[in-house]
Order: sequence, then C-alpha cells, then structure tokens
Amino acid sequence: MKTHTSRPIVLCLSGHDPVGGAGLQADIEALLAQGCHAAPTVTALTVQDTVDVSDFRVLDREWVLAQAHAVIADVPIAAVKLGMLGSVEMVDTVLEIMSKLPGVPLICDPVLRAGGGGALGKDDVGYAMRERLFPVATIATPNLPEARILADLPDGSADECAERLLPHIRHLLITGGHGDEREVHNRLYSRDGSRHEFTCARLPGSYHGSGCTLASTLAGRLALGEGLSSAVQSALDYTWRTLRDAEAPGHGQYIPRRL
Ligand code: PLP
Repeated sequence: MKTHTSRPIVLCLSGHDPVGGAGLQADIEALLAQGCHAAPTVTALTVQDTVDVSDFRVLDREWVLAQAHAVIADVPIAAVKLGMLGSVEMVDTVLEIMSKLPGVPLICDPVLRAGGGGALGKDDVGYAMRERLFPVATIATPNLPEARILADLPDGSADECAERLLPHIRHLLITGGHGDEREVHNRLYSRDGSRHEFTCARLPGSYHGSGCTLASTLAGRLALGEGLSSAVQSALDYTWRTLRDAEAPGHGQYIPRRL
C-alpha cells in the first residue's frame, strides 16, 4: 500500500564526496536515520579520499538552480541544509533558491575545509555566507576553526567569535571537536542572549564527515518539529554515537557509522 503522507523532506545543497564519508552521502544517511527523506541537490564534485581532498569543481549555477527548482516544484520542503558551496556565486544561487522557500528553516554548515585540511572554497566564500546567507538562516554550525575564519578572529575564543557573528545570524552552534581538551564543549548562542553548553567525552581519532552528519541531523530534527535546543542535543548525541561506531576503511580519517 502506498501512503500519501511522507516523511519530512530536507533539501540538501552540498558537495559530493566519492569516498562516501562526507557531503551528500553523509546528509542522506544521517537524515534517513532521523526518519526524514533527503532531496540531494549537488553543488560541487570533489576528488578526495579519507586522507584529504585533491580537487573540486563547483557546478554551474544554472544546473544547481534547475535541480533545486525541479524538486521544490514537486515536493514539500520541510528544511534546507547547506554544506559545501565552493564559490561566492553559489552563495548567491542559494539565496535565489531560498527566495522560493519563505519561512523554511535553513541550516548552514559553513564548509571551507575538508577534514584533512584541504580547501573546499576560499575564505571569501565564508565571508559571503556570513554577509548574505546568515541573515536568512536559522542556525549555522561552524567548528571553532571555521568560526575563527568567519569572524576574522584567528585566535578568538568561541565566545569572542559568537559576539562577532551573532549580529549576522539568529542562532550559532560552535562545535569544539577540533580542540585537544579531554572534553568537547559545544556552545549554542542565540541573538536573544541565551546560551547553552553541551559537553561530551572526546573520542580518539579524526573523522571524515562529522560536521556534515551533525548539521544534517539538526536539519532533520528541526524538520520533524523538534525545538531548537532539544534538536541540537539530539543531533550532538546521534553524531557522537556515529563517531564512537566509526570505521577506518582507508589510510586516513575514520568514517562515521550513521546507519
Ligand atoms: N562537504 C564535502 C563535499 C566534503 O567533501 C567535506 C569534507 O571533505 C565536507 C563537506 C566537510 O566534512 P566534515 O564534515 O568532515 O567537516
């Protein structure tokens, strides 16, 4: 029997990672695990393995618009998740897509580097996100190194970065996974002044696709109607479990086990 009610659909605008740890595959798997359906629109292709990225190509704006518009005209979108955009032009392309989706929550993972450190876009892409996308986004999920780039504070603390970024965006989750303390401190800041800290045990190793997993899970949880701070807690808990159960199939980073 076919059913006419469907799981919430999350439009994902992200890059493709051929090793399947990050990017759209991470989005699809994490969303499936939340009981959502992913509509994957490709923004960029990458050449990479579990060690690092060696090349990437951003798709033509027309191709991205055509993919997204076809999906938007056909199915209801409950949330939009952004991953790798790769160029300033793609930031404007996303704005054009969002103008067709007023009121739909936008979750922005400001991807600028691969897990291995290779660039997936110039810092200018981050500044364009901050200036033009953050104002229409619900929340952004930078890790601390990304937050420092976005805030233009190379040695800034999470609090200092948040103070710089909150005029641009309503909510900000700065994750602490890239530090070296025994505990990971993830901090949720809101423009109304509220602040929550979520602490978890640091797991050994480095992971390919952890940020993608977190942001798409958060998008899925918001699409399901969960409140923001509960959705952040659920997304952090689920992501932690995928890292605890991660596999090491290659020569580099671990791949989160999402299903
Ligand atoms: N998006 C794509 C297409 C990628 O290839 C990567 C990393 O390689 C990322 C996003 C970011 O990955 P992470 O979640 O490890 O920050």
